[in-house]
Amino acid sequence: MTSPFPRAWTGFRRPAYQAGPPPRRQFLPREFLEALLAGAAARLPLLDAPRLDWADAERVHDPAYLARWRRGEVTRAEERALGFPWNPAVVERGLLSSGATLAATRDALAHGLGINLGGGTHHAYRDRAEGFSFLNDVVISTRWLLDQGHVRRVLILDLDVHQGNGTAAILQGEERVLTVSVHGANNYPFQKERSGLDLALPDGTGDEAYLAVLDEVIAPAVARFRPDFAFYLAGADVLGGDQLGRLALTPGGVRARDDRVFRWAARTGTPLVTVMAGGYNRDPRKLIETRLGTLDAALAAFG
Ligand SMILES: [Zn+2]
Repeated sequence: MTSPFPRAWTGFRRPAYQAGPPPRRQFLPREFLEALLAGAAARLPLLDAPRLDWADAERVHDPAYLARWRRGEVTRAEERALGFPWNPAVVERGLLSSGATLAATRDALAHGLGINLGGGTHHAYRDRAEGFSFLNDVVISTRWLLDQGHVRRVLILDLDVHQGNGTAAILQGEERVLTVSVHGANNYPFQKERSGLDLALPDGTGDEAYLAVLDEVIAPAVARFRPDFAFYLAGADVLGGDQLGRLALTPGGVRARDDRVFRWAARTGTPLVTVMAGGYNRDPRKLIETRLGTLDAALAAFG
């Protein structure tokens, strides 16, 4: 734990990631994953994620659900909802990804910024998996922060192109957390939950309209809430050309989005954890460039 800050956590170098989902669900082929890791390591220290303790998962998820998934007692319908068949790596990846987010959360408490090079599995509900999401890493870390008394008011700023439905459902009625989701109106999930603040954007939304929403709607709501800790889901699936997204941001637009978030956190002294969330671009090089751009934005604001 002595590497210099900022630093990033990753589960991607663990064997479970190589054993992961079937090829049609591997949106970043092996050689591109290596390129992403190399690009990240050239910018800041990369640490291998610790596995989450089951006790931390049980703060958020139904213990019976966790026990069934741990044993592989999963129905076909549940596999369809997840998006690919169960195997032991699904569970292991969930623990590593959530462990990385919790490690990043500790970093943010101590140093102002924490980074998980993966994470952001926001479709996981209390007792069911959905949309590539088995454990809801950000909610697990949020619950840990609140239960430990580290913070009082948490912002979850979800700028992935898909609504954070699991996050919204689990945290319904939790007044110490503001959930904000900016997403494509016509994107999955088709049945949306109610976040603290939802902004559903039309197909083809570009940089200018997107950034205006951040400046004119999100920023004032966040200022009113006055969080003392924040999570940022920096989804790259807002980028034009995404296989699972319907918006049309340019790489420059995504960078401007990231700059706004990191500069806000640095300026206001709000500890921030960033997780990468979704990204399924038809051009993997564009996806990598965008991911590394998010790291550059973080380093520019906090470096
Ligand atoms: Zn997404």
